[in-house]
Amino acid sequence: MTGMIQVCYLYPDLLNLYGDRGNVLAFTARCRWRDLPVFIHQIRPGENVDFKEMDFLFLGGGSDREQGLMAEDLKSRTGELGDAIEEGLVVLAICGGYQLLGNYYLTGDGKVIPGLGLMNFYTQAGEKRMIGNVAVEIDLDGKKYKLAGFENHAGKTYLNNVAPLGRVLSGYGNNGEDGLEGARYKNVFCSYLHGPLLPKNPELTDYLISAALKRRGLPHLLEPLDDSLEAFAKEAILRRMRVN
Ligand code: GLN
Repeated sequence: MTGMIQVCYLYPDLLNLYGDRGNVLAFTARCRWRDLPVFIHQIRPGENVDFKEMDFLFLGGGSDREQGLMAEDLKSRTGELGDAIEEGLVVLAICGGYQLLGNYYLTGDGKVIPGLGLMNFYTQAGEKRMIGNVAVEIDLDGKKYKLAGFENHAGKTYLNNVAPLGRVLSGYGNNGEDGLEGARYKNVFCSYLHGPLLPKNPELTDYLISAALKRRGLPHLLEPLDDSLEAFAKEAILRRMRVN
């Protein structure tokens, strides 16, 4: 890191469903509130980026059409992205972005959108869209947290030999069948939760910031912030889902 935390937002014009861009804003704000300077690289199809130089990569959700458009550009970056992931790049991928990291997505009209195959899972569209609020329990370094978010997807994701991000407490998660939500590998965090996820769940945001600092060998114990409003909002929605 050259004195700044380098954030990469891939395809900001196309992958930004349900306020997903808020994930970049929350990550950035929580760094800046601690006097950690951040630079945001917005990378569009065909533009160059060196993933190894990045500290945090964000891939948002998109419709089937947008995913199809992105798949080709993303495919050309597979090797580089795979190397950066192996060496600890912190990645957050939501919904459509999540699906693209796996083996493939079979859409409702029978089209196969090839994934990067960087994580071992696949997705196929179900008959019914999975829509609504969702609560998930996750484990971060042995500590359990509840995440709140919103999901809206037709794709059902099935994990092969990759860990889930967490377990569904309310809602559908990966497929509405196995009780699993998202996927996790090294510092890659995948989830169906829009909302957006990070502003609603500051514990996860801080975990990602801390992981990014740690990867650079920097002090990664973060100063606490006043999260009373975020906690209040989360309690309210968890109560509505009866999982608090
Ligand atoms: N197109 C995908 C699906 O419906 C992803 C949607 C999304 O990103 N919300 O499963």
